[in-house]
Amino acid sequence: MEEKLPEDLANLSELDEKRLLEVLTGRFTQNLIYTYIGDILVAINPFKYLSIYEKEVSERYKCHEKKSLPPHIFAVADRAYQSMLGRLATGPKNQCIVISGESGAGKTESTKLLLRHIMELCKANSQLEQQILQVNPLLEAFGNAQTVMNDNSSRFGKYIQLRFQNSSVKGAKINEYLLEKSRVVHQDEGEQNFHIFYFMLAGISMEDKEIYGLLDPTHYRFGQEDVVQAWRVKYAEVCNAMDMVGFEEQVRTKPCLSGDAFFLVKTCGTCGETIVCVCVCVCFCKQGQFGVQEEDLLKSLTCTTSVTRGEAIQRLHNQQQAEDARDSIAKVAYGRVFGWIVSKINELLAPKVDCDVELNEIGILDIFGFENFTVNRFEQLCINLANEQLQYFFNHLVSMENSFTHARFVPLFQDLFLTKPIGILSLLDEQSAFPQATDRDFVDKLNSKFKTAPNFEVVRNHTPLFTIVHYAGKVQYNASGFLEKNRDTIPANIRELFINSVTPLLSVLFAATISRTGTLMPRKAKVLNVCVLFSVQHSLAVLMEKMFAAGPHFVRCIKPNRSKQPDQLDSKLVMDQLRYNGLMETIRIRRDGFSWRPAFKEFAERFVFTAVLLCCSFRSCRLFFKYWHQEELARLLERLGRAALVIQKSEEQLNSFVYPSIR
Ligand code: ATP
Ligand code: MG
Repeated sequence: MEEKLPEDLANLSELDEKRLLEVLTGRFTQNLIYTYIGDILVAINPFKYLSIYEKEVSERYKCHEKKSLPPHIFAVADRAYQSMLGRLATGPKNQCIVISGESGAGKTESTKLLLRHIMELCKANSQLEQQILQVNPLLEAFGNAQTVMNDNSSRFGKYIQLRFQNSSVKGAKINEYLLEKSRVVHQDEGEQNFHIFYFMLAGISMEDKEIYGLLDPTHYRFGQEDVVQAWRVKYAEVCNAMDMVGFEEQVRTKPCLSGDAFFLVKTCGTCGETIVCVCVCVCFCKQGQFGVQEEDLLKSLTCTTSVTRGEAIQRLHNQQQAEDARDSIAKVAYGRVFGWIVSKINELLAPKVDCDVELNEIGILDIFGFENFTVNRFEQLCINLANEQLQYFFNHLVSMENSFTHARFVPLFQDLFLTKPIGILSLLDEQSAFPQATDRDFVDKLNSKFKTAPNFEVVRNHTPLFTIVHYAGKVQYNASGFLEKNRDTIPANIRELFINSVTPLLSVLFAATISRTGTLMPRKAKVLNVCVLFSVQHSLAVLMEKMFAAGPHFVRCIKPNRSKQPDQLDSKLVMDQLRYNGLMETIRIRRDGFSWRPAFKEFAERFVFTAVLLCCSFRSCRLFFKYWHQEELARLLERLGRAALVIQKSEEQLNSFVYPSIR
């Protein structure tokens, strides 16, 4: 008979690394991929179909008692939904579900399952439900790619916010983060471009291919017929998703071409809106396909014009410079098209309710996990900094909820790398603003500022290298190309050319300055600093603010093996993930503290007097808060929160004496 293994690890009295691994492995071999650690759900990717997502299963997880059913991703969705409706505790109405894990661990699949179950729970009207569910295939086509780690790897982060009026969903909003645009022009060995290029190449009609100068997909190196057939089906799905989400019927087609990237712009005859698809192309620029004159484009790519003392001086590019200019158009255009698709989806899914109606939210964050490759570039730095922030959020909540004495969760990293004026990103911005500065200069600056910092290591090398000690391990970064990528701009003459394009969408996209988050910003904004601050620091800060104000739920995805095989679990790989996911630490804290966490109402009832006192002092302070710097306010609130926790903690200790079984 199979051993009955615990469903919640926080309940175990004895728990060390060995036992943890034993339980998880044991459960995994019984196809029990989900396990709780208190309120956190650990999910191990099965890499095979399991019949645990059927309709009758999701029925059972509707409005259930947590302990009455085995751990499940549907249970997390149910808890978030019930909490939003105020049925579980009197916490905040808004909820956020943070899904983390390394590439291929199952974050995106979990996101889809969560969305599906929430749609079932709120009995969404079928059109809106379909629209929301179809957003994923659309985003995946444009934002996912085959990588060494995952055949369907998300190359962007996303935060999906579902908006509810009481129990019914009224709309959704998506924020996208850090699309890996460089993939458009460069893919490492064993990796592919974004899916849409292949889908479209396989899917568009022969007639269209002729118009755009494309060959049959079998002529390209990736073109085995069975693969091509699968892409053809995918292309039809993307078109279907576009229709479902609400992109209008395509009437007039107009292609435009950029380097290796081929953009197909479709304009709707009735509303004039433009729909964009993208495809790969080996040839370069066909006349008129950008809606600009070919000779103008060639001129912009092959030389720069500068005005000195009223005189226009033309300087010819060498081949490398011309190629860089071509690539930067492809990257900027792709990034902007992606941002535009997201903003279009947001417009279409915006809740159609009166503005005085109160809407609550459930947000789901699916952001790429920590990355450490042989060569780590600008993208890895951004991704890892984002993960560092998320880990901070996770640690902060776990430690705040359990004990305020766990001082090692002090956000050392936060101070060091993200704060202005000397954070790593601020330094990068500063250097990017000097046209003559090099990547070496940037690393030299880092070395001099951070040489004594515990999270930083100087690397002596000809190549501009530096090492950061992240929570998940040491990562060496190669800063070659950092300044260029951070600037994320295209030469002014090329921008002007596109602004004057007769293709309306391109003209709009190039006229605006778009941050790396895809948010449109006014063109005149001071591009450099604002752009980067907007992207990495600002957008993360906004996200964190939202998350701190919401009821949190965590799903930690674990990848069982590197070969993407079912029924195989590599103990070392799993253990590493448990460690850098902060799960070992969580278990320790929960064991030292208590996994039982009283609802605020319960807590307040027992401690009415203290609660009232705290509230009064809070109110009287509020007037002052108005005039205080936000950081000070945050610090004070944190202190108040901690004071409340001291009381809560002593209450828990008291309880543990009276009701030892709670532990
Ligand atoms: P990335 O960071 O690269 O985007 P990810 O964490 O989002 O990775 P997914 O794309 O969700 O990873 O999962 C990778 C693959 O693992 C999926 O394509 C699917 O084949 C498999 N998989 C993930 N979760 C499940 C599941 N619950 N059941 C069956 N297969 C799964
Ligand atoms: Mg993913």
